[in-house]
Amino acid sequence: MRISVIGCGYLGAVHAASMAKLGHEVIGFDTDEKKIEQLSHGIPPFFEPDLQEILTEGIKRGNLRFTGDISALKDASVHFLAVGTPQSQESQAADLTYVQDAIDELCRYLKPGDLVVGKSTVPVGTAEKLTEAVKPTGALLAWNPEFLREGFAVQDTISPDRIVYGVPAGDAGRKATTMLDEVYAQALVEGIPRITTDLATAELVKVSANAFLATKISFINAIAEITETVGADVITLADAIGLDDRIGRKFLGAGIGFGGGCLPKDIRAFTARAEELGKSSSVAFLKEIDAINLRRRARAAELTVEALGGQVVGKKISILGAAFKPNSDDVRDSPALDVAIRLRSLGADVTVTDPQAIDNAKRSHPHLNYEASIERALVNANAVLLATEWSEYKNLDPNWAAEVTSDMVIVDGRNCLDSIRWREAGWRYFGMGKP
Ligand code: NAD
Repeated sequence: MRISVIGCGYLGAVHAASMAKLGHEVIGFDTDEKKIEQLSHGIPPFFEPDLQEILTEGIKRGNLRFTGDISALKDASVHFLAVGTPQSQESQAADLTYVQDAIDELCRYLKPGDLVVGKSTVPVGTAEKLTEAVKPTGALLAWNPEFLREGFAVQDTISPDRIVYGVPAGDAGRKATTMLDEVYAQALVEGIPRITTDLATAELVKVSANAFLATKISFINAIAEITETVGADVITLADAIGLDDRIGRKFLGAGIGFGGGCLPKDIRAFTARAEELGKSSSVAFLKEIDAINLRRRARAAELTVEALGGQVVGKKISILGAAFKPNSDDVRDSPALDVAIRLRSLGADVTVTDPQAIDNAKRSHPHLNYEASIERALVNANAVLLATEWSEYKNLDPNWAAEVTSDMVIVDGRNCLDSIRWREAGWRYFGMGKP
């Protein structure tokens, strides 16, 4: 298939390179010239495992190109829309201006029979509106939400756990389905489930999935607030309830909560859309999910203050992690940086380290101190706070760390360290939701 991808960020760049890996002829377009320049030279503009490899392979093979000229998309017949839908500056709703601008521009080059495929996460009803915009060109519009996880994005794109098509009714829907089946032929041969539905259901599948995941994380974090009040242990509790296969252990990791460019803004946009639909009470609980999540960031800062005896002015605190999750350099709404800012505002001397995300963190939070080397970040620390569960931090040797820091105080914001090992090495260990 001749495919174009509009918007080459965390989703789009991976999608373009993965589609080329599957043998399609792909052209990626973005309005960010620097990104296009980097991608054209096979340089990923962000850190994502395996992306570099498939990017260079595609460019070398000649079936993957990037452009800043949207007219170059006219030869493609399937156009994936992967632009951002961030939270609006003025409200909790999604900002759809990037989607609208991209469609307006694209419409100038669409041909009858082309298929526009939305991948961005949008409020329900968006696809129907965009269908009207696309109609005069004779092109069709479908919605194919994306479920990739940053850190596993290439694997998740090439071999997703399900594929959802939202298509219009009748012949148009059958045509869109046939074209999408050709795009995803390899995954379908492998037996990956494909669910075909209407546009609104497809849009809602994505936001509901994220709302559920956010709810699961905030559920266990709410329980953590209780366990830490009564001296119980949230990890043992999660292990025990997680053994019930109706519940499951995944996403029951109590800690400093979720962040990133999706979950927080998606639950807020869902709430805003439900309000517009006159159904605010249906998802009113998502406001509480958001509030619980933000409280855990405050709690991590408070726990660090308690660990340091009640005040942190002038105390050196080393924060391990800036990215919102491991194996990513994405710092959008990162809990790690939020906790770092809170501690800094209390007068602490905060140093942040991260294996990949320092450049992005410096751009978004230039006033924080950064150290690329974990050793230099830990020097003379009065407390260490693990904020992103990179494997190098999970596997940190407490004896080695003790030689570098000033005091042996560790706050495990992700409950991912072996507390017994750290305590045996002489550290005062503090976990989230633990005695
Ligand atoms: P991003 O900010 O990394 O990328 C968006 C890209 O779109 C940027 O490179 C930007 O320059 C480009 N862009 C903006 N306006 C454009 C236009 N008019 N024409 C062409 N390009 C334009 O965002 P992202 O994380 O890739 O997310 C994109 C969408 O995918 C969002 O709706 C998000 O919710 C959804 N999504 C993201 C993920 C993820 O893990 N990042 C997963 C599933 C869904």
